[in-house]
Amino acid sequence: MPLGLREKLKENCPLEITAELFPSAKGGTIKARLVLRDRLKIESVLLRHKDDRNTVCVSSQVGCPLGCQFCITGTLGFKRNLESLEIVEQVLFFARLLKKPFGTAQGKVTNVVFMGMGEPFLNYDNVIGAIKILNDKDGFNLGARHFSISTVGIIEGIEKLAKENLQINLAVSLHAPEDRLREKIMPINKKYPLAKILAAVRNYIKETNRRVMFEYIMIKDMNDSDEQAKELAELLKNIPLSFVNLISYNPTGIFRPSEPVTIKKFKEILEKNGISVTQRYRFGDDIRAACGQLGIC
Ligand code: SF4
Repeated sequence: MPLGLREKLKENCPLEITAELFPSAKGGTIKARLVLRDRLKIESVLLRHKDDRNTVCVSSQVGCPLGCQFCITGTLGFKRNLESLEIVEQVLFFARLLKKPFGTAQGKVTNVVFMGMGEPFLNYDNVIGAIKILNDKDGFNLGARHFSISTVGIIEGIEKLAKENLQINLAVSLHAPEDRLREKIMPINKKYPLAKILAAVRNYIKETNRRVMFEYIMIKDMNDSDEQAKELAELLKNIPLSFVNLISYNPTGIFRPSEPVTIKKFKEILEKNGISVTQRYRFGDDIRAACGQLGIC
């Protein structure tokens, strides 16, 4: 391209992405703090798995209006929704990083999860817009099954996603087996109580025939008792194609994480009651990159 055109493009459509990097000393995780055009900052995380998968955890909003008690992002308040391209940019940033030798980071982005800052379904169109760009064969060409959206249970979002012709994965954050406790740690439960969320999930599974993951952060002496495990099993027993993902709470200064032995027991009770369970291991807690720890904007 002629120099003049190149300069014009550089001025009007700059390709640089400004970011500060925080690699974990434990390996496996790199957090990036990206600077947006209006100087606001967001955080995204690259998770490197032992089997060569590279997952990028992206943010969908600058801050978050929902104020979940266990989450640093929730304490920041809400600044604005991200545009589709700002979401794509987070993936592009790590794709570029994986191409250059940077410590141990080499390879390709294989998965994208919307589990960073913000509630994806409060920015539905931009999130789906970003997925379409990343999924497009002329875009990033990343298969739809490699995307996951995690929501606190925004019913309108679940309903809309059921109608999209996209085979992406849905995760719903429960974190409590009954409304009173859930409302305490997730104020949005007032608007979207458990019964309504689960009805929407049942409908989603009926329409899409896709599995749904229920996320459950294990908080010491808050939601981790044997009785609560039984209550959770009872709540989910009639939801086909679903499973529970137990996540150890990453300290954000308010609560304490459940003991490993408590998590083990909780898992056993769920399984004994017919619920499939997986467990998420901690990534990046030393660089404040683990679930609920993303926090600068
Ligand atoms: S957990 Fe998610 S929805 Fe809740 S405050 Fe944090 S970013 Fe927002």
